[in-house]
Amino acid sequence: MKIGCPTEIKPQEFRVGMTPNAAGEAVARGHQALVQKGAGLGAGFSDDDYTAAGAQIIDTAEEIFATADMIVKVKEPQAGERKMLREGQLLFTYLHLAPDPEQTHDLLASGCTAIAYETVTDDRGGLPLLAPMSEVAGRLAPQVGAWTLQKANGGRGVLMGGVPGVGPAKVVVMGGGVVGTHAAKIAAGMGADVTVLDRSLPRLKYLDDVFGGTFKNQYSTAGATAELIRDADMVIGAVLIPGAAAPKLISRAQLGDMKPGAVLVDVAIDQGGCFETSKATTHADPIYDVDGIMHYCVANMPGAVARTSTIALGNATMPFMLALADKGWKQACADDAHLLAGLNVHAGKLTYYAVGEALGLDV
Ligand code: NAD
Repeated sequence: MKIGCPTEIKPQEFRVGMTPNAAGEAVARGHQALVQKGAGLGAGFSDDDYTAAGAQIIDTAEEIFATADMIVKVKEPQAGERKMLREGQLLFTYLHLAPDPEQTHDLLASGCTAIAYETVTDDRGGLPLLAPMSEVAGRLAPQVGAWTLQKANGGRGVLMGGVPGVGPAKVVVMGGGVVGTHAAKIAAGMGADVTVLDRSLPRLKYLDDVFGGTFKNQYSTAGATAELIRDADMVIGAVLIPGAAAPKLISRAQLGDMKPGAVLVDVAIDQGGCFETSKATTHADPIYDVDGIMHYCVANMPGAVARTSTIALGNATMPFMLALADKGWKQACADDAHLLAGLNVHAGKLTYYAVGEALGLDV
């Protein structure tokens, strides 16, 4: 199969859909890897890295879309890319169709078969192609929060780990799922005093068993939140209610109870944010102040560490990409119900129930 990987064109997107290592694996199995000139540069991969792996460097996206059997990307295809998709062509990337009627319409009109990373499932009820980006965002949260805590950035001027004779920063993590657990691990590793709140007792049991000595955990109630944030230097928002907007767990009025210069890092901003005062920001202008409390609310945090994110995503997508290339999408999806769960569009028909429901379209 000819696997095509165009350069990402969405603003601020530096990741690439296929790493040189993934291209090498595809080539070793007899496939052709067609990579657009410069596609990997944002993630630190040169054209020579791809050539050394056996990939062919192609000058333009047009040539890739015209010849590849499967297009592998990171972000949903932009309007110009959607015009180039062909009937029978396979598209494997993040799509997020539910809030995007225009894209859905164009994919249906193209006649392509589209498998969305975000709806591929695993045996444990997880989303294996979303998890790597949650891991990245979670691990990045204390890092950006620590920077925001610095005096020059508007923060309290508190060092995460303290020093001998001076106590560490107090960090509260709201939500102990993938993002929250990774955030807590890193914050604790930086020496902070960390408490994770969650509403799931099984999750709290797991956190206690695995991380009992590393960070504390507590059942999440409005009362526990009110008590903990009074004393916190940093609060990391990492809650998720699947399919719903994030619940608002800290109100504007409560900011007045917090220490001046404390930091809120709202990782859940891509679901609307879990603090009343959160509004999405960008890497170019990531932080702002509300009532003396610093907010960091970047909606695509993994983009800040494009190389790590690309490799982490590539590790997760590669086995599926190879199965699709080896067997064709029909057989690969017949053999793997989790990959089948990723099928959103086929030959002009919507094949994912939740997207149809959200957009009022037949499935
Ligand atoms: P997850 O499902 O693994 O974890 C969410 C956790 O929140 C669960 O353990 C759940 O029990 C808990 N929760 C739900 N309601 C709660 C409440 N009221 N109080 C405390 N805990 C509560 O999800 P995840 O992968 O960790 O993702 C968390 C959020 O981060 C999502 O909104 C996701 O979209 C977002 N995210 C953002 C970025 C970014 O760049 N900003 C990147 C990745 C993920």
